[in-house]
Amino acid sequence: MGTYAMTGGASGIGAAIKQSLRDSGHQVIVVDIVEADIIADLSTPEGRDAAIAGIRAAAGDGLDGFIPCAGIAANVPDGKLIAQVNYYGTVELVEGLKDLVAARQGAMVLISSNSAPHPTNDEFVDLLVTGKQDGALALADTMETQPVYSGSKRALARWMRRNTADYARDGVRMNAVAPGYTRTPMTRQVEEDPTYGEAIKAFVASIPVGRPGLPEDIANAVCFLLGAEGGFICGSVLFVDGGHDAEFRPDQF
Ligand code: NAD
Repeated sequence: MGTYAMTGGASGIGAAIKQSLRDSGHQVIVVDIVEADIIADLSTPEGRDAAIAGIRAAAGDGLDGFIPCAGIAANVPDGKLIAQVNYYGTVELVEGLKDLVAARQGAMVLISSNSAPHPTNDEFVDLLVTGKQDGALALADTMETQPVYSGSKRALARWMRRNTADYARDGVRMNAVAPGYTRTPMTRQVEEDPTYGEAIKAFVASIPVGRPGLPEDIANAVCFLLGAEGGFICGSVLFVDGGHDAEFRPDQF
């Protein structure tokens, strides 16, 4: 059985991914800010370094896969924090663990969002993807949180696409999933918000398949992409959103 590492395994989508991998008999090393094998705050450079060091110490000679799932939503009133956790908390760990996953010819699945194509600040996305961290975080501080969230998720997908071929040649197959509205502790908070709750409920009712996503829906897609059946899928962004992206952007293909 394999050895996997992931972030954000304490709750929601990450907890479902962890459970699914463990149910299949795999060892899963979990990083989170709470309830994890390695407690680390991915919003800080020190926390990201500690997470990488902790995973490296626990993994031994290699990893069959890595799933950076930790993230925070746009209801957190701090754009800089959203960018730090969602973007740098993913990309820096992917880079820091690449050799371990390559050692096993393994796979990584990044967690983007179906909000990634939504309107955002293109300069912000560019600063993220080109590694200009100071500029990206300074700009995030001046932006509304929703475009920071969607921009961080677009930048993740774009960074993954730009690095796919090099990673694949080095032995790491990378993909991303783009979940739509998924019922987790993250979205439950927004649904219960007195200001936005009603609008969110109407949005959920508009999902073409007629229900919100469940953490298991996203975990099923992630585990498929990680496993041998997904072995020729590389550089894809898989929308797992009940049809919303196709409805919003039918011709962008
Ligand atoms: P969640 O809040 O249930 O879980 C997020 C996890 O990330 C938690 O375990 C939390 O402790 C961890 N985390 C947050 N900040 C951290 C930090 N600074 N350091 C370490 N860990 C930290 O959320 P979820 O809905 O399961 O979301 C999981 C991922 O899926 C996120 O990246 C999110 O952006 C993405 N996503 C979710 C939805 C949705 O509708 N739920 C849609 C699209 C994308």
